[in-house]
Order: sequence, then structure tokens, then C-alpha cells
Amino acid sequence: MSGLREAISDKKRIVVKIGSSSLRHAETGDLDYIKLEVLVRELCNLRNQGKDVVLVTSGAIAAGRKAVHIGKEDHPIAVKQAYSAIGQARLMMIYQKLFSEYNQVSAQILMSKNTIVDDLNRFNAHNTFSELLKLGVIPVVNENDTVATYEIEIGDNDTLSAIVCALIEADLLILLSDIDGLYSDNPRNNPEAKFISVVEELTDDIMKMGTTETGSSCGTGGMNTKLIAAKIATCAGADMIIANSSDIRVIHRIMDGRDIGTLFKAHKDENFYLKDFVQNLHRS
Ligand code: GLU
Repeated sequence: MSGLREAISDKKRIVVKIGSSSLRHAETGDLDYIKLEVLVRELCNLRNQGKDVVLVTSGAIAAGRKAVHIGKEDHPIAVKQAYSAIGQARLMMIYQKLFSEYNQVSAQILMSKNTIVDDLNRFNAHNTFSELLKLGVIPVVNENDTVATYEIEIGDNDTLSAIVCALIEADLLILLSDIDGLYSDNPRNNPEAKFISVVEELTDDIMKMGTTETGSSCGTGGMNTKLIAAKIATCAGADMIIANSSDIRVIHRIMDGRDIGTLFKAHKDENFYLKDFVQNLHRS
């Protein structure tokens, strides 16, 4: 075990992000209750170790669409917003039930780009997170998809989770995804692609490894959004790990310091301003 990995067990404030495709059965698109249950148990166990825990979860739009029995075809934005209103409530109902089974209190926080760009909103969101964490509550975060259209959307939960990580000064972000971590090239097309276990510094060459492809049909994140997330998290002073969600018990293995997934080392950048970064998202 390397020193870098061992240091993970000392992290105090942890944001865990899980994507839609990690929470659903691939064949039917319905929620995978076993995965949800394992996820909640892992998070509660972290809380029981005295750590601050935040969950960033996708799945609202997919859950809403399922609830009204509509297929995956492309829908206008207003329809997706209606699905997210239905699905977010359903998702929270399930999370609340599972968290309370383990005697933990959870809370919902929905954010948009404006939450960060507007000074008063950012200040309020920061205070709300701080109070919830002081109370020992586990905030469950998603984008406020019911109001977020292109102009004000963050757009994907990889980026959202890194923004949350920076906002609350977390020291670790774990991105659970349908990939093992970062490869030198897309391993689905290139058998020569090499797995990268540790990224000490997020150079331009590493940033170029981002591809917008994703293996799933329900999430919005590819490697590109994960590298943007890594930029935000590491500049804000947090380590970030991308790991495969096929077995969600990976969370405690990571926390034990095992060499799993890709670790991006924190490089706090004193010139990094979250507000400016978020304001310029999607502009380049
Ligand atoms: N916020 C969206 C949802 O909950 C998902 C965004 C994403 O998958 O990155 O459905």
C-alpha cells in the first residue's frame, strides 16, 4: 500500500457521487435496490466513523420517466423537467427509508449554477451544508433539474459533485462510475490502453485524455466531465478517486487505503475561485 493511498483513511469530509447507470438494472432501467442499500450502508458506516459524508446522486430523470412508463426516446426539456420532479421525490423517499433503517438522518439539497454564481445563494448553500454536517446529517444532493435549463445548468453530476466538494471544503471526492478509472486511451476501443493508478498532477496531457464517450445510456458523464471534476476538486484542495461501482463495497476498500481506481492528488491552487470557474462552465 502506498503512502498516498494510506492517507485516504484519514480523510474527514467525504463527497461520494454515484451515477444513474450505477443505480439501475441495465436490462429494465428499474432501480437496483440491492445497490442502493449497499451504498447507504457504506455511507452510514463512514458516518459512524465520525466522518462528514455527502452523497451526490443522479437518477431523478430516469426514475420519473419510469414512474410514468415512458421509454428512453429523446424528450423536450420541459418533459425531462417534469420527470425529474416526479423522480427526485421518489428517489428521496427511497434514500430516506434506507438511511433511517441505519439510524441516520438525510436531507435533500438541490442546486443549480446560480447556487454558486450568485454570492448570496453560495453563502446560504455553504451555511446550510455546514449546519447539516454539524448536526451529523447526510446531505443528498442533485442538480435542480426542474428549473435548470441550458443557461443555468451545471449539466452533469460529476462536475456538480466536485463543486459541492469545493464549496464545503471536503478533503476527498469519490466518483463511482461504470469504469475502473483513467486509462491512457479508451479501453473499449484500444486494447493497448494503460490503466493509470495515480495522477500526481493534472497536466494538459492528462486533461486531453478526456473523451465525451460514456458506456451507459442514462448518465451524462464521460471521462471528460470526470477530468473537469478532478480539476475542480484538486485545485480546491481535495483528493479525488474514480472507481468502478460494479461492487459498491469498493467505498470501504478505498477508505482502507487499497489501491483501487485512479487517485488524483490534491494540488491546492490559491488562485482557484469556484465562482469564476462555474461561471465559465460550458463557455469554452
Ligand atoms: N441530474 C440528473 C438526474 O438526476 C442526472 C445528471 C447526471 O447523470 O450526471 O437525473
